[in-house]
Amino acid sequence: MEKTSVPEIFGSMVFDDREMRARLSAGVYHSLRRTIDENADLDVEIAEAVAAEMRDWAVERGATHFTHWFQPLTGTTAEKHDSFISPSPDGGVIMEFKGKELIKGEPDASSFPSGGLRATFEARGYTAWDPTSYAFIKDHTLCIPTAFCSYSGDALDKKTPLLRSMQALNIQAKRILKLFGTEVKNVRTSVGPEQEYFLIDREMFEKRPDLVYTGRTLFGAMPPKGQEMDDHYFGVIKPRVIAFMDDLNKELWKVGILAKTEHNEVAPAQHELAPIFSTTNVATDNNQLTMEIMQKVARKHGLVCLLHEKPFAGVNGSGKHNNWSMATDAGVNLLSPGDTPYENAQFLLFLCAVIQAVDDYQDLLRLSVATAGNDHRLGANEAPPAIISVFLGDELSGILEAIKNDTPYQGTEKVKMKLGVHTLPRFFRDTTDRNRTSPFAFTGNKFEFRSLGSSNSIACCNIMLNAAVAESLKQYADILEGAADFEAALHDLIKESITKHERILFNGNGYGEEWVEEATKVRGLSNLKTTADAMPHLLDRKNMDMLMSHKVFTETELHSRCEIMLENYCKTVNIEGHTMVDMVRKNYLPSIEEYLYSLARTTSMMKSVSDRVKCNYEVSTMERLSELTDYILERVRDLEKALEDLKGMEDIMNTSERIRDDVIPKMEHLRKHVDEAEMLMPEKCWPFPSYGKLLFSVY
Ligand code: ADP
Ligand code: MG
Repeated sequence: MEKTSVPEIFGSMVFDDREMRARLSAGVYHSLRRTIDENADLDVEIAEAVAAEMRDWAVERGATHFTHWFQPLTGTTAEKHDSFISPSPDGGVIMEFKGKELIKGEPDASSFPSGGLRATFEARGYTAWDPTSYAFIKDHTLCIPTAFCSYSGDALDKKTPLLRSMQALNIQAKRILKLFGTEVKNVRTSVGPEQEYFLIDREMFEKRPDLVYTGRTLFGAMPPKGQEMDDHYFGVIKPRVIAFMDDLNKELWKVGILAKTEHNEVAPAQHELAPIFSTTNVATDNNQLTMEIMQKVARKHGLVCLLHEKPFAGVNGSGKHNNWSMATDAGVNLLSPGDTPYENAQFLLFLCAVIQAVDDYQDLLRLSVATAGNDHRLGANEAPPAIISVFLGDELSGILEAIKNDTPYQGTEKVKMKLGVHTLPRFFRDTTDRNRTSPFAFTGNKFEFRSLGSSNSIACCNIMLNAAVAESLKQYADILEGAADFEAALHDLIKESITKHERILFNGNGYGEEWVEEATKVRGLSNLKTTADAMPHLLDRKNMDMLMSHKVFTETELHSRCEIMLENYCKTVNIEGHTMVDMVRKNYLPSIEEYLYSLARTTSMMKSVSDRVKCNYEVSTMERLSELTDYILERVRDLEKALEDLKGMEDIMNTSERIRDDVIPKMEHLRKHVDEAEMLMPEKCWPFPSYGKLLFSVY
């Protein structure tokens, strides 16, 4: 019988706790749980037992292969499939999967970017099982979430530093909790990533080389209708999209992803999917898997799912909201205001730790979301600006203000905010937040980081966030552990922290020009507009020191990452530039020329029939189009030259700056003229589907 109800489907392809408990012996199960819950080392014999059960479970579900599933620095996921088969003496095969195959794999690492980390002769890398993220089956393959390292132990992936950053935060948060008299097994961060995407018709997609090669349109005049009617956001979902979403949910549920909310977004053809939050490394794995499954399911429905941050100019782009919190193994959310003053003192301390982290490491947060694609969004009146600031809402801001000034808090319960933990008042969750323009907003019991691009792995920003908060907590613990009077020290610490970091707090409109002025000139916040501006700050001494002291990255890993991210930026724009040249030379110019020929022929024929015809339309169109083709030629030559000039460049920082200052402006210039020509041309003579067709053809 096929499983149909959601509880039956959910997790049916995941070797989750239910399966482990049911299949493993009590001893093996508890040992594995200790590894998962308390980061205890994994016993080899345990691995052998787990592997055997995992294999049986997978084979029962039709799996024939297994793979170590990992996240190299390309930002996607990688897998290399091995089948379970092993020859048996009778000439047949048996299905085999050994403990060591579960724990460790050895993919050839030489074709993954390493940013100079791995000398070429040292091409080997290895993958190591992450037992905290459950194995699952996809396409008849048992996928084992793994970390990916070089033989010298340097991380070649995004999972390793993410796990390290979670560990760093865990260590420091436990120190703080101990001071408040709470001993816990662990503190983990949780994330619920809201994912935006576009769905367009597959046939239209395939006709556009820019979409095929780069994931975004590089040309295209605005259609008569865009998003100005605000009729798409939360609008009725079209039947074809509903069918896609139903199918998508089912596929996600099977692999244990808690897909929960779905709705239309602001732009036409734009949608959002939000899962229920989970532990950060699991949420990261799940988000990678979600993006992959979205694209696969879309294809089945004759659609293409675009995850690019800015597939279309003139309408909103796509981002990802990273809802983040910290909780103990007992399920206590450390960012939840408590019911008693004492709990609230602890809450305020954790709150201050985040505020301080965001202020001290604005640049790290900014660069953690920097890609060529996301540069189109940040600061462009649709997404938070490139300036990082924190929104707290009125009530919390009022409380912090009162603490800072030692004045009575004028909120719901007028109590003087003074001194240690026992005198802090009760206060209630701020329910007024709906400031959509803030990059980093407190939303009741979590922070929502809104600057991520839709195609970004969420690993990057969570690594920085966890590490930066670990650093604040470390500084606090160092002070408080040595304090003679804990309550007095706590009060002073909170007060001092607010005073020092209040410049990062901003409840106003983040889209306004005035904010850019105030943030940069008055408050001294950083405004790193592009990837080329932001990424080099990864190597600032203060950033490297912090990340290395918490053992999140080694110095070599940081250098390699900076290089890879910049390389990625340069390669992306380079491909876009070449695609533009190609489209202009092979399609746009020839199409316009053909139309000019038909206009010229028509004009001269009409005039030969009667000298009273003026041919105003033909002649004026011809004149303007001919002028435009000259401009386009000039601009395409400029761009070709700019791209050619990049070839000799060796230094990646110089190259990225050249891309920012020279190549991108030339691309924009070229586009402008082509888009103008589009407006003058009959649709049937234009070589590619228009924005109108791309955005409005899915019903
Ligand atoms: P909105 O669109 O209003 O921002 P959604 O309900 O679409 O909100 O998404 C909120 C996201 O935040 C969901 O993924 C949800 O699971 C997640 N979330 C809720 N509570 C927490 C928490 N304590 N920690 C992390 N994420 C959370
Ligand atoms: Mg949100």
